[in-house]
Amino acid sequence: MNTSKGFATRAIHHAYNPQDNEGSLTPPLHLTSTFAFESAEAGGEMFAGERQGHIYSRISNPTCDLLEQRIATLEGAEAGLALASGMGAITATLWTLLSPGDEVIVDKTLYGCTFAYMQHGLAKWGVKITHIDLTEAENLRGAISEKTRVVYFETPANPNMRLVDIAAVSAIAHAGGASVVVDNTYATPYLTRPIEHGADIVVHSATKYLGGHGDVVAGLVVGTLEQVTDIRIVGMKDMTGAVMAPFNAMLILRGLKTLALRMDRHCASALTVAQWLEAHPSVGVVHFPGLERFPQYDTAKRQMSQAGAMIAFELNGGLEEGRAMMNRLKLIQRAVSLGDAETLIQHPASMTHSTYTPEERAVHGISDGLIRLSVGLEEVEDILADLAQSLPMPADIAAE
Ligand SMILES: *Cc1c(COP(=O)(O)O)cnc(C)c1O
Repeated sequence: MNTSKGFATRAIHHAYNPQDNEGSLTPPLHLTSTFAFESAEAGGEMFAGERQGHIYSRISNPTCDLLEQRIATLEGAEAGLALASGMGAITATLWTLLSPGDEVIVDKTLYGCTFAYMQHGLAKWGVKITHIDLTEAENLRGAISEKTRVVYFETPANPNMRLVDIAAVSAIAHAGGASVVVDNTYATPYLTRPIEHGADIVVHSATKYLGGHGDVVAGLVVGTLEQVTDIRIVGMKDMTGAVMAPFNAMLILRGLKTLALRMDRHCASALTVAQWLEAHPSVGVVHFPGLERFPQYDTAKRQMSQAGAMIAFELNGGLEEGRAMMNRLKLIQRAVSLGDAETLIQHPASMTHSTYTPEERAVHGISDGLIRLSVGLEEVEDILADLAQSLPMPADIAAE
């Protein structure tokens, strides 16, 4: 359906015809918990899986269903599933795929709550979590075993921007009989479509760029119809109950309509900001896939159409200077989350990644001085001006 059309066109039109809905240009919001059966027999047939149709909104809902079709076409997947949050999407997926005794191989760096879910959650139920450096795909060859059920990573990784070569890792994982699950929150399907590179399942925090306006918490999963149906029935319906509210599905559908437009602007501004930061005398390292000095610049070129709009950087003055700098900002907001119209800044070690112990952060490559910036949609000159007035000049540091 519409799959020959371009990305932005599908984000606006896919799987919806106003003429099926009294001409309503905007899809209807189905605010209903349950669905009336035409007859007792029809209800029984739906429960037996012999008849199509909606039963109860913890299983499916027409507004969520449209969003599921949209994200599937944008990711190049067969089917999609809408969930209550990014964590709902991740937990429902992994609870479905894993059993006690299985192993998950993950990259060194993960979003804080995903790390906690695995380390403190899954591990408690007898799932082995093995962290390896997946930025070198070959490392997987030595680590994978017959117990490895899932290989899981983020690319770019939250918060330190590590990239994983999806095609290389997927090839090795598949040869070893494991499924590949990619968290594509940072890149969005506009920049990277992991399934096209060989991944099996993609998970999203739709709270971020897909929603795009900071007004909703939501999650999405895509994969084959069989995988997604399993996650719907086992992980979502029974194990987590992490179902997306229909109203939130509408907000994400609205966000998707401008995803391409917003990402172009986010990415252009972020490149400007990253280059500016790199040239600033009080900024040390800048982690951004669009900078030639970025260690995985070639991987970025291969699997991202643009470098995204998340930047991680450290000041030469370390954490103390970083805190002082964040407190001087006037336009840029000190807040977690990302992908909003507003430029947001936060300190992973004390905020999003405080679920790691200090020792774990050291092992997993999240330094205490790291600052995470989500470049928003304001005029880039205004973003730069706020950064400029907040950053210390080397002379100020010397005088202190
Ligand atoms: C925010 C985030 C999540 C969690 O999503 P929620 O919608 O907050 O539950 C997962 N992965 C990444 C990479 C994130 O940035």
